[in-house]
Amino acid sequence: MKRECVNVLLIDDDADDYLITESLLADVKNPRLYFKVDWCSDYHEAIQAFHKDSYDVYLMDYHMGRYNGLDILKEALALGVQKPIIMLTGLGDVEIDTKAIQAGAADYLVKGQFSEDLLERSIRHAMERSQMQRALKESEERYALAAKGANDGLWDWKLSTDEIYFSSRWKAMLGFAELELENKLETWLSRIHPDDINWVQDALDRHLKGESNQLEIEYRMLAQDGQYRRMLARGLAVRNASGTAYRMTGWQTDLSTRVASYDALTSLPNRSLFFERLNRAVERKKWEDQFSYAVFFLDLDSFKMVNDSLGHAMGDALLLEVSARLEHSLRASDSFIRFKHESLSSSTVARFGGDEFAILLEGIHDHEAACKVAERIQQSLSQPFYLEGQQLFTSASIGIAIGQEKYHCVEDILRDSDIAMYSAKANGKARHAVFDAGMHGRIKVRLALETDLRSALAKQELKLYYQPIVELESSKLVGFEALIRWQHPEKGLISPDAFIPIAEETGLIIPIGLWVIEEAASQLKTWHAKHPHSKDLSVSVNLSSKQLAKHQLFDDIVNILSRTGLDPKFLNFEVTESTMLEHADIAKSTLEQVRSLGCRVKIDDFGTGYSSLSRLHSMPLDVLKIDRSFVMNFLDGSENAGIVETIIRLAQTLKLEVVAEGIETHDQLLRLRALGCRLGQGYLFASPKEVKLIEQLLSSDSFAMQVFSKV
Ligand code: C2E
Ligand code: MG
Ligand code: MG
Repeated sequence: MKRECVNVLLIDDDADDYLITESLLADVKNPRLYFKVDWCSDYHEAIQAFHKDSYDVYLMDYHMGRYNGLDILKEALALGVQKPIIMLTGLGDVEIDTKAIQAGAADYLVKGQFSEDLLERSIRHAMERSQMQRALKESEERYALAAKGANDGLWDWKLSTDEIYFSSRWKAMLGFAELELENKLETWLSRIHPDDINWVQDALDRHLKGESNQLEIEYRMLAQDGQYRRMLARGLAVRNASGTAYRMTGWQTDLSTRVASYDALTSLPNRSLFFERLNRAVERKKWEDQFSYAVFFLDLDSFKMVNDSLGHAMGDALLLEVSARLEHSLRASDSFIRFKHESLSSSTVARFGGDEFAILLEGIHDHEAACKVAERIQQSLSQPFYLEGQQLFTSASIGIAIGQEKYHCVEDILRDSDIAMYSAKANGKARHAVFDAGMHGRIKVRLALETDLRSALAKQELKLYYQPIVELESSKLVGFEALIRWQHPEKGLISPDAFIPIAEETGLIIPIGLWVIEEAASQLKTWHAKHPHSKDLSVSVNLSSKQLAKHQLFDDIVNILSRTGLDPKFLNFEVTESTMLEHADIAKSTLEQVRSLGCRVKIDDFGTGYSSLSRLHSMPLDVLKIDRSFVMNFLDGSENAGIVETIIRLAQTLKLEVVAEGIETHDQLLRLRALGCRLGQGYLFASPKEVKLIEQLLSSDSFAMQVFSKV
């Protein structure tokens, strides 16, 4: 091992002492250090050396001719000497020893009474202490400066006694006068909000144990007026040579006064403060590979509905409650993350405005940890909210981007978390998604589709296909289900499953849905007029839940019927089980009104949801459509056979008509007939067809027999 050289200057007017000291230090057996001793014998030389301050340690004789060691020591310190000065005294100079230490000497040794070991140890310890002291002094100066600038309150905590010095500014921030609060740790901790105290205590412990580079923590603190103020504390532990902290100093900032950084409603950090903190994380990741963080972008799924239907005051109350739950679940997650990865973490929950929140979480290394946190958040939001005597439910879509060196700026990582959020929403809400490289492309495709869809109606790219519905016993045509298609100029024919969800999310489903009703009604009216034997045929139109949630729907239907002149009894509406239950009240009243006109209501995809029979019974219904998943494989002895049979019996009990969807084989047909199912549709008879083909069918005299003779 390479030994380090310690440069020692002996200031002594006695040449013998120099020889003794040099030979003592030459004998030192320290595997890490060796000593090189220079000697100066007069006052002026010593002062020159202090000016340069190029030695590691000074040994100074107390008796320097006509100068006394104490005066030289004071002069040296006034010159700004940073290195330790050890005083060498003669026998019996006891008071001098004490004075020397008080004046700032690092140590004192009695001449003639020290061995090489003692001398070596004294030098080594003096050097260690003096570095430490310099660091402390620097940090104190830093804090004092920062505190002056930021108008913050200082604190200085002595760990052995739990005494804390609080500056007058610290107390004033809480509304107390200089002498009012006791200088005890308890004074601080007892005023911290009960929901924040564990988190604060934890952060303090971690910093004291050396698990974090500095303390930086936000919490709410009780002020004299009984209000909680949001505070930020920063601090640094001072440690001894073995790394044990014995003191911690820092400052506290009153964040509630920094209005520009906090959201007025929730008091959470706002977008600009979030940007500031995220920026720190992005920059830190660039030079500290081990550092890890993630950004969560969160959007409530049904907030607009709460705001629109229950009013803004309720909306605000919900946002407040959501922010509290977010903070709470992150603090819970925080300990989980640390436990798992043995690293530190801190978090910022910010409100970006509206129902958008962003979270910066440090200590997240991978997808698994991020998803665990997202699940925790979702779990906490899934519990009912009790606001002003009402019970409410909400959920959130969460997009996650994991911090990487490649993120050059805040905007990059936020964009990715936003894309991930969008993807989570597109996959069906109340979900979370972690950003991946392919997501960008997929979202671009989807966004392009969304843009195109906005003009599809005006450009007449939407079309209705009609799928025949037949009487199973006779194969006679009884009507059609109108199914939408999008004839995209570049992408070709797009199926409703690929664009109806987008239409629902963007609200485009409202104009599109109305167009479908009007188009189907006028088409049927035309066929009735053109083909006399088709005058009993009906048409079914699918309704989305978004349409049903609008009070306007009934009036629109009335208008369409009057414009087209179609008898309402030929117009059927299909509503899925989940739609029916999602907006049960409004769905029920609208569908009742629609039925009172003479239209019929069908429950679509029956069996896939979880309708309770009692609720179904109270719904305004005429027809049950058995979902094709049951029909498709109900012959193979699986439980589907039983389900189909049960649905048919249920319908008979409730006096409902039954239509089986997705009949593809002759065997399925025979079985359904045997079970007493009267109506059906499926590829066995005909797939959904465009108008031209349906017209060909209707033009033939015995159309039913011709087309469906094979069955
Ligand atoms: P849906 O209402 O359950 O429609 C039945 C779907 O099953 C149609 O798919 C139809 O083409 C398909 N199908 C019919 N017979 C068979 C068969 O024998 N085998 C198989 N494998 N499939 C069969 P499509 O046309 O792709 O429509 C999908 C869904 O899109 C519809 O399910 C409906 O929920 C929705 N949809 C279609 N048009 C509209 C519309 O105008 N408005 C709204 N809101 N939703 C629509
Ligand atoms: Mg349908
Ligand atoms: Mg269906």
